[in-house]
Amino acid sequence: MSDSIPAIVLNNGVRIPQLGFGTYKLPAEDTRDLVLRAFEAGYRHVDTAQMYRNERAVGEAVAASGIPRAELFVTSKLNNAFHAHDDALAAFDRTLDELQLEVVDLFLVHWPLPALGRYTEAWAALEEVYRSGRARAIGVSNFQPDHLRRVLDAGTVVPAVNQVEVHPWFGNEEVRAFGREHGIVTEAWSPLGRGRVLDEPTLARIAEGHGRTPAQVVLRWHVQRGDVVFPKSATPSRIVENARVFDFELEPDEMAAITGLDRGERTGSHPDEENRTDR
Ligand code: NAD
Repeated sequence: MSDSIPAIVLNNGVRIPQLGFGTYKLPAEDTRDLVLRAFEAGYRHVDTAQMYRNERAVGEAVAASGIPRAELFVTSKLNNAFHAHDDALAAFDRTLDELQLEVVDLFLVHWPLPALGRYTEAWAALEEVYRSGRARAIGVSNFQPDHLRRVLDAGTVVPAVNQVEVHPWFGNEEVRAFGREHGIVTEAWSPLGRGRVLDEPTLARIAEGHGRTPAQVVLRWHVQRGDVVFPKSATPSRIVENARVFDFELEPDEMAAITGLDRGERTGSHPDEENRTDR
């Protein structure tokens, strides 16, 4: 099963499994077991964050899985309170400690917090972490083209990824295009629009034609667009279902119909407006 999840090569040569397991708001007491379920279902990539307060449970699942460390891909993210250089370095140390890992595969600045104006400082700290070898790749999350331009100007490492909201109701095309032009892979967060897009009749029609579920059709759409996805589910049967998206293909007209559902509707904050540092 894990063999069937393709890898995408990041701009520094590191390979990331195109499909992973999202962990935001999984029930805390079940997180370890659900990540283990995902590994059993073939997932080899897990997305966590300091903000989710579940790095320890994710690390416990990694340790308990028995899967060689080199076969797993673990992402975490710098929390909003820690953009100051020394705070970022200390927070990264805590991430490794919580995960009980010596190296994380990908570490991201979670939000740009433009009103605070310190994301290039946070990025400089992540570059130090990268050079130390304790993160195999570094990137950003929720960065608009303006924020990315500043990072490209001020920094020396091009972010490997930009993790942003993308789903059929919110194609986020401008940000995706900027990434394509600069060798920054787009990771689509809330790929299912937190489940809200799944009742679209267009998805039901396409799903029926392929003998699939609407969730599988949406995930397949992301995959064929070349983005990385990590759907979240606390339901074991859905965890399995969401990984079975590499054995069918959507036709160009089906891809276009799903892209056409875009109504500019976010489920989360606009990156220019998210300025909370207390989470
Ligand atoms: P998602 O789009 O993955 O939707 C999850 C919800 O969809 C589930 O809670 C469930 O209600 C439903 N669902 C899942 N599988 C289903 C299925 N097969 N059939 C029917 N319904 C199904 O939403 P998400 O959790 O917000 O996003 C995924 C991951 O992205 C997160 O867990 C997290 O890792 C990441 N994320 C990152 C940021 C960021 O700021 N960087 C923000 C939000 C999410």
